[in-house]
Amino acid sequence: MEKLALFGGPKVRTRPFEKHNRYGEAELKELEEALEQGTLFYWQGTKVKRFQSELAALLGQKYCTATTSGTASIHTALGAIELGIGDEVITSPVTDIGTVVGILYQNAIPVFADLDLRTYAMDPASIERCISERTKAIVVVHLGGNPADMDAIMEIAGRHNLYVIEDCAQAWLAQHQGRYVGTMGHIGAFSLNEFKHISTGDGGAVVTNDDDLGVRARAFVDKNYDRIAGTREPASLAPNYRMTELQGAVAVAQLRKLKDVCRRRTEVGDAITARIETLPGILPPKVTPAGRHVYWHYMLRVDEAALGAGRDTFAKALEAEGIPATAGYIPTCIYEYPIFTEKRAYPNSPFPFDSAEFGCNVEYHRGLCPQAEEVLASCVVLPCSEFFTAEDIDDIATAFEKVATTFREHPEPARA
Ligand SMILES: *Cc1c(COP(=O)(O)O)cnc(C)c1O
Repeated sequence: MEKLALFGGPKVRTRPFEKHNRYGEAELKELEEALEQGTLFYWQGTKVKRFQSELAALLGQKYCTATTSGTASIHTALGAIELGIGDEVITSPVTDIGTVVGILYQNAIPVFADLDLRTYAMDPASIERCISERTKAIVVVHLGGNPADMDAIMEIAGRHNLYVIEDCAQAWLAQHQGRYVGTMGHIGAFSLNEFKHISTGDGGAVVTNDDDLGVRARAFVDKNYDRIAGTREPASLAPNYRMTELQGAVAVAQLRKLKDVCRRRTEVGDAITARIETLPGILPPKVTPAGRHVYWHYMLRVDEAALGAGRDTFAKALEAEGIPATAGYIPTCIYEYPIFTEKRAYPNSPFPFDSAEFGCNVEYHRGLCPQAEEVLASCVVLPCSEFFTAEDIDDIATAFEKVATTFREHPEPARA
């Protein structure tokens, strides 16, 4: 075995991974048509409506409402279920902050369930322990593109009469038991930001089969105007999360590419797993039975003792071989962010965490979800792309083999 690049040996991969432009002629044509309409307002134009009806059809859902972001999508879903002050929402501590922004803007309280160590999904037993008489909803995060076990979650939600919102921002077209994520809970929320499977720069969508939720979501993105009835006096507060025809045009073109993008990402991620899963100390992500992972990124964990190296050293060694691996995902669990530990969602008040009026006083601190903390302490993240070639996958796997084998034979001094 050749010397590790980390210690001055030759790199497995010397060429950078190629960058590709995923926007092209198709997007340009839709944009031209949007501009030729003479309006960029969704209610007057055709592009946003077309995107909504095509995504609804693809997912087999009755309603789809376009939004301005994934954060807006989740907020819209929470608005549609009429989440209010002092309500509790159970969610994942390892996610994008956008998952909890809407909860806090509704002055509700996020409660964090612990994660499974191998799927990074919320553990159903932990969800059950988080339920109180204030719980109104569960926001499920299909982290990294790996579908959560929705059967178990829907069973719990059904018993406790809770809404389930699926955060599918990283999981476009992921499947659990042959069903798309976003179609198993009450509402599915999607992101179209620059880094997601398909993109409009920024944007999003919510889908549902429920008539009341569908109608309320549509109003919520539009200041709670009812454009069909023409009412201008909203029943309650709602933001403006309207998608413009410019995003709608790009969304229509991007949506046509979605199936191919996701199919290829599943192939790439599964191929990486097949090559590295037997290496000592390597713990690839586990997928639920009959599940389909769409690999927004490729997040694995390492067992430092079996590996003979620390997680950070391992990631640095991969990087030195020319593989863009990073140690860790978000810096800490969401509940360790000062917004939570110092109760400063709002600049001048500890509301809604601490409120005599609503009888709330919640504390967030390290140790709340030990397995989620363990996931973050032991994970390594690789980018995944639909543009990866067989050679790219081979280089990634070869670097893993080289680094893992070398550390098994020559453990880091601290671990020998
Ligand atoms: C990206 C993301 C969001 C937020 O989406 P934006 O479009 O960036 O607002 C929410 N949840 C998860 C899991 C995400 O990855």
